[in-house]
Amino acid sequence: MADCRESIKNLSEYIDGEIDPELCAELESHLKGCTNCRLVMDSLKMTVKLCRDGICEDLPESLQKKFEQKLAEHWKKKFGRI
Ligand SMILES: [Zn+2]
Repeated sequence: MADCRESIKNLSEYIDGEIDPELCAELESHLKGCTNCRLVMDSLKMTVKLCRDGICEDLPESLQKKFEQKLAEHWKKKFGRI
């Protein structure tokens, strides 16, 4: 799996520890080679942590959407397209 958008879809499950082992391995190998996805993962992890600590009021279901939006913006800036 070398596709960033696919990886991003799996990141929230990965962070929750609910991803299946095969996908997990693919995702980890993608993250090793992809700085953008690592950055996105770090910010997602941070958001998830804040939510769990009750600091952020967002519902977990809204996280992925926000996250995809954030990545899309990041991508547009970098590549001019998604
Ligand atoms: Zn990537």
